Amino acid sequence: TQEALLANEKLAVAGRLAATIAHEIHNPLDSVSNLLYLMRNGVTPEESRQFMDMAEQELARVTQISRAMLGLYRESKAPVSVDLKRMLKEILLLMDRRFADLGVSVAIDLPADVAVAGYPAELRQVFTNLITNAAEAAGRGGEVSIRIAPNPPGPGPNGQKLPDGATIIIADNGAGISDDVRPHLFQPFFTTKGEHGTGLGLWVSRGIISKHGGAIEIASNTNGNSHGTSVSVFLASNPIIAAGD
Ligand code: ADP
Ligand code: MG
Repeated sequence: TQEALLANEKLAVAGRLAATIAHEIHNPLDSVSNLLYLMRNGVTPEESRQFMDMAEQELARVTQISRAMLGLYRESKAPVSVDLKRMLKEILLLMDRRFADLGVSVAIDLPADVAVAGYPAELRQVFTNLITNAAEAAGRGGEVSIRIAPNPPGPGPNGQKLPDGATIIIADNGAGISDDVRPHLFQPFFTTKGEHGTGLGLWVSRGIISKHGGAIEIASNTNGNSHGTSVSVFLASNPIIAAGD
């Protein structure tokens, strides 16, 4: 059932995240203990200051990561105001190493003080799914760009009127989406990544966004030289939560 699948994908995401976090926190802590070791063994006052600065920076990073984590697991019962810039920055912090491993660079244009109404843990999952797809599509040497704009006044992807709110646009310069793949994008278990894919990311994301009264649009160009995909998520600044949830 849909519920079970959602639970499954959540677990998979949580598992991947836990591994990422452990990794992200391990490195700075290792540096700190090395720095402390060095300092114990006699250093000049100059070195001592330098090492302490370095240790402080590493610990600040651990703090940031743990803050981002706490935000992640605090599920709210009612929609709250979500600061998009803050949320996207937290997600990118957690995905840092992933981007580095994939050899993908990120460009962001995130104005401050843009808020939408929603369930933070769910929206995080959506953005994480979409940014992961973009990074995977961009590949080594590729680029992902993330920006926020006001919702356009015109009709949304299904011809519906868009709520007042914000659009989050996640674009990559990967290979784009071919015409034979396009109709299947939002189907559960549809993946072109073989055993590396679950095929649940877009399906889950669309479910979450429609529960929020928003919409997702995927634009892609595989013609000519202009490759790449752009995914737009339209969200409302005031709560419009689908009945029954
Ligand atoms: P998964 O990533 O596990 O394959 P998703 O539901 O996230 O599952 O995505 C389904 C499919 O949609 C992907 O396998 C891929 O073919 C296509 N897709 C999604 N995002 C992009 C993108 N940014 N560029 C190209 N193809 C994409
Ligand atoms: Mg995916």
